[in-house]
Amino acid sequence: MAKHQFQTEIGQLLKLMTHSLYSNKEIFIRELVSNSSDAIDKFNYLSLTDESFKKDDWSGKIFIKLDKEDNSMTIGDNGIGMNEQDLMDHLGTIAKSGTKAFMENLTGDAKKDSNLIGQFGVGFYSVFMVADQVDVISKKAGEEQAYMFSTDGTGEYEVKPVTKDEHGTVIYIKLKDDEKEFLDKWRTQEVVKKYSNHIAYPIMLNYAEEETEGEGDEATTKIVNKSEQINAATALWTLPKSELKKEDYMEFYKTIGHDSEEPLTYLHNRVEGSQEFTTLFYIPKTAPMDMYRADYTPGVKLYVKRVFITDDDKELLPSYLRFVKGIIDSEDLPLNVSRELLQENKILANIKQNATKKILQAIKKLKGEDADTFVAQYNRVIKEGIYTDHLNKELLLDIVKYKSSSEDGLVTFEEYVSRGDSEKKEIYYITGEDEKVLRNSPLLEAYKKANIEVLIMDDKEVDSIVTPMIGSYKEWTLKDITAIDAPDSKTQEEKEEVAKEFKSLTEKIKEVLGEEVKEVKTTSRLTTSPSCVLKDPNDPMAGMSAMFAQMGQDIPETPLILEINPEHEMIKKLDGLEDKSLFDDLSWILLDSAKLSEGLEPKDKGAFASRVANLATKAI
Ligand code: ADP
Repeated sequence: MAKHQFQTEIGQLLKLMTHSLYSNKEIFIRELVSNSSDAIDKFNYLSLTDESFKKDDWSGKIFIKLDKEDNSMTIGDNGIGMNEQDLMDHLGTIAKSGTKAFMENLTGDAKKDSNLIGQFGVGFYSVFMVADQVDVISKKAGEEQAYMFSTDGTGEYEVKPVTKDEHGTVIYIKLKDDEKEFLDKWRTQEVVKKYSNHIAYPIMLNYAEEETEGEGDEATTKIVNKSEQINAATALWTLPKSELKKEDYMEFYKTIGHDSEEPLTYLHNRVEGSQEFTTLFYIPKTAPMDMYRADYTPGVKLYVKRVFITDDDKELLPSYLRFVKGIIDSEDLPLNVSRELLQENKILANIKQNATKKILQAIKKLKGEDADTFVAQYNRVIKEGIYTDHLNKELLLDIVKYKSSSEDGLVTFEEYVSRGDSEKKEIYYITGEDEKVLRNSPLLEAYKKANIEVLIMDDKEVDSIVTPMIGSYKEWTLKDITAIDAPDSKTQEEKEEVAKEFKSLTEKIKEVLGEEVKEVKTTSRLTTSPSCVLKDPNDPMAGMSAMFAQMGQDIPETPLILEINPEHEMIKKLDGLEDKSLFDDLSWILLDSAKLSEGLEPKDKGAFASRVANLATKAI
């Protein structure tokens, strides 16, 4: 008999299961039944596509046996089964970085944490919330030898050969003393109905019940073994919409979503005609924890004529919709479609396109609190969509929201446009990393004065790359306010006049600052600040930050232009200043404080600090 050590992470996880996650124990039934259903799906597929697995009298079944005397529950299936290696690989180690991600995401709130269990593919281990001892007896389809994997959940497990007739897996669970409630027929039935009603295979509950025969003195009681099906066992998405109520959809979501919250919305569509397929999608209220991990678990399962094909294809929907959960069932794909070739399949490409549109339209329809929840969870992936999915740009632009200089909360482009100048048709925005810095940016002063709304885009590393790609919304052009002249009432001649008047000053400042700035010039965009800095819009590097980011490289610094406010007292006085060293200090302060206002750092922080101290001393 071979003893093995659990992978370290599993050891940690087991401890967690047994000691911390106790608020929602019933979900272990959901997890084990869901594994059984997957295993049956896999065998079903094999039997339909591979001659050597063909079986006439086989149909997928799951059973749950309750044994009060033995204080045990057994959950079994006649699915694909596992051999010795599978048992060790699948139950003794965690292949995906699932456990790690799971541990990182724990909040300490037991209820929330147990919701995470299903999401990370650590479902099997949830059994240790209720079990003292677990034996997994399994025989892989097509193989002779069966094996038993046993553990008490404390760090070690054993695997040994055993005998078993049919392929499939049987999980024997010795319940902890205080978990007897699950031996009650009604309790287990309730849990199955709640989470697994629409598992596509029958779930049989086997239990023993006392029965009394005869009356009075004649009466005899005996124990009778009973068996009944406790789930509906329908593939819900195959039923006509007219027969389904909201509750049915919600119940099904619990089966496939591993989520105890209700979804934000769902959409069920059947397409008929030259191609036939059914889709059922859900938008979870809370974004999946692994949404920003490269090895995220896709949420959509592919079926062909109700036969499960795969749940591990990231191409079924565009990757920015990776938070969507649901089902695609095609009537036209061949059953033995090669999984490698799915990507290039025209039928699937068509389904994907149709599904994407439908999902985006459903999102667009969200109102009020639901719309707010959606944006709070998914605004960022929608921006990813804007960047990658040009076909659906318009729909995506109707969904995405931004902060605004004139409104509380978040606004859509549509709302912006409804308030904007319908002759100019321009949408103004500023991008950066810090909302506060952006809101206080001197560059906004002229817009505030002229009562023009500016979108404040503070999504780090995302907006500055995505927004320039948008170009326009309907007929409105997007304008980065750092790259254009500010709105004001001055004519071109007047501006040139001012520039001439301050020419010697701007030249003198440029001389002091040298290569630190590309140019120094006067501006009419400022009202209260003496100076501001901008990126040079004509710099060839300026438009290329997206490219650098895509290549995973640092975005090169573009030289800045320093603009000064000729109406400001400080600038006026500076123009006639005799004291050369004071002039130099003030020139640097104009640059460094303008940089600080944009969230940039002065080149020499120490020098900046001592200049400020010098000036303060003089002022006193
Ligand atoms: P997940 O199901 O999310 O992958 P689990 O920890 O629940 O995570 O299961 C790990 C793996 O063990 C499964 O992916 C599957 O390969 C295997 N497994 C679990 N239960 C069964 C079963 N009843 N029949 C066959 N394989 C199973």
